[in-house]
Amino acid sequence: MLDTRELGRRPGSQRQVTLTVPAPADLGIEVLSVPEGSQVELDLRLEAVMEGVLVTGSATAVLEGECARCLEPISDQSEFTFQELYVYSDQDYSEEDDGAVSKLDKDLLDLEPLLRDAVVLALPFQPLCEDDCPGLCVECGARLADDPDHAHEEPIDPRWAGLTALQPEQDQ
Ligand SMILES: [Zn+2]
Ligand SMILES: [Zn+2]
Repeated sequence: MLDTRELGRRPGSQRQVTLTVPAPADLGIEVLSVPEGSQVELDLRLEAVMEGVLVTGSATAVLEGECARCLEPISDQSEFTFQELYVYSDQDYSEEDDGAVSKLDKDLLDLEPLLRDAVVLALPFQPLCEDDCPGLCVECGARLADDPDHAHEEPIDPRWAGLTALQPEQDQ
């Protein structure tokens, strides 16, 4: 929670805030997330406008997960940017707008939903260790990035050899 009282509700007044907070639980998606309790650095500009406080800023955090192709652990520093208008809670807003707007609680601003949205929206559904990760060998499961010339002379499993021998007949 950030206190915005210092802005005095004077449109045009601004404040630059830098702070480090522990990451809340479940910040991210299943395959890639910010570990709970790790440090999130926030760099924010709070700006009073007529209806409330406009928050513009960025968050820097470490992401951990695993590559969707080769399952290698990924640990990466990322920056997320966001902007959100928080309206004063005593402002008159029509009922239908209610769910969509962020509100100040008295003059306190809850950053967590904003941070959560910024992180989740920015994450790839299929995180990769490298953009062109070649993944795993379908035959033995070796990580191909570690061994680019990886090849199998002969199928490992005799059952595969049997399938190969059958191939020409299946084509007809
Ligand atoms: Zn990979
Ligand atoms: Zn292999």
